[in-house]
Amino acid sequence: MRVLLVGGGGREHALALGLVGDPSVAGVIAAPGNPGIAGLAELREVDATDPGAVAALAVEVQADLVVIGPEAPLVAGVADAVRAKGIAAFGPSAEAARLEGSKTFAKEIMTAAGVPTARAHTCTDAASTARALDEFGAPYVVKNDGLAAGKGVVVTDDREAALTHAQECGRVVVEEYLAGPEVSLFVVTDGEAALPLLPAQDFKRVGDGDSGPNTGGMGAYAPLPWAPPGLVDEVMRDVVHPTLAEMRRRGTPFAGLLYVGLALTAAGPRVIEFNARFGDPETQVVLALLETPLAGLLHAAATGTLAAHPPLRWRDGAAVTVVVAAEGYPASPRTGDVITGADRAGIIHAGTRRAADGALLSAGGRVLCGTATGPDLAAARDAAYALVRGVGLAGSHHRTDIAAAAVEGRIAVPD
Ligand code: AMP
Repeated sequence: MRVLLVGGGGREHALALGLVGDPSVAGVIAAPGNPGIAGLAELREVDATDPGAVAALAVEVQADLVVIGPEAPLVAGVADAVRAKGIAAFGPSAEAARLEGSKTFAKEIMTAAGVPTARAHTCTDAASTARALDEFGAPYVVKNDGLAAGKGVVVTDDREAALTHAQECGRVVVEEYLAGPEVSLFVVTDGEAALPLLPAQDFKRVGDGDSGPNTGGMGAYAPLPWAPPGLVDEVMRDVVHPTLAEMRRRGTPFAGLLYVGLALTAAGPRVIEFNARFGDPETQVVLALLETPLAGLLHAAATGTLAAHPPLRWRDGAAVTVVVAAEGYPASPRTGDVITGADRAGIIHAGTRRAADGALLSAGGRVLCGTATGPDLAAARDAAYALVRGVGLAGSHHRTDIAAAAVEGRIAVPD
């Protein structure tokens, strides 16, 4: 089959690697792609958030499947426009993507479906925000209600900072703080049948020891040696299937990738957030371990035939990815710096571009990541850091503790 892949970040580079590794794939076209994807796929320019333009490109390149990576095109209705042309699209409709596009909507669905999550209030003015902050107490959690590329959340003990963030966002969700290790669970679904991928953990804060502001994600690993047995089954039963049923009941079934962000609290798993697409950088590690051909899996979800798909197969061992970020990320990343050492297997491009003279330049906050597998987490971690040490980028920074606590057995689920 011919696959059109929409997007141009690290997640899409990881998806491209998975797609070209599927023997049923005859060609991948990526739009807009990036210099890392250029070695795997034909690149085309497109405004990824213009549903008409993406659908026209899908027709032009005779795609059998369109895989939509980022959230903004989904919320804009790209999957709907592609399906309207009779082409299979992996990704939810605009209506269903509201699970990610609006935190308030996601809470509404969770409440209706009886899904365990943090108690929350939607606030639009300073007085109601202050009341909600005082009801839940510190640490304060304030979330931008709209899409914020994973960066609209402030978790702080500083009440003033929480109020300021709320004021800057306009409409926010204020919620109770959930204490416990976090898990990202990706679920491939056609709206009814659902297959969980391996649980992963990502690192949202910019600095070692979870210090500094939240980012889009600074690294990830999978699987989780400390996860309780039965966790995935429990989340499928208590979170995923009730959510999918509620979406069907409303006439807006969710088909695509349901990303369940969880905190494993003393009271059990609680949903922190839903996303409507693969998470970045967890995709890099989860797909590195997936043995089942990726395009066939996504095509089954896109065509309502997932119930007939064989069980997923996984490689033994573990995978770790470490993000190399530009100077100034996340507040004000500097771009345009020359990158060296990026043309190696395992280097996944996220924010890079090719200059006219062929030099590779930084073009975003998260510039690239080193992704490696190994027989165990410690070996995968060493290999990922070896990749990162070989990258040259002036002023760049990365966390030095990705997967360290898991390797050292320092993660405990509260009971
Ligand atoms: P979100 O964009 O909703 O995933 O939030 C980004 C990050 O903020 C999460 O990965 C958590 O680390 C943190 N966070 C969000 N909500 C909560 C909460 N209710 N309690 C504790 N931490 C949270």
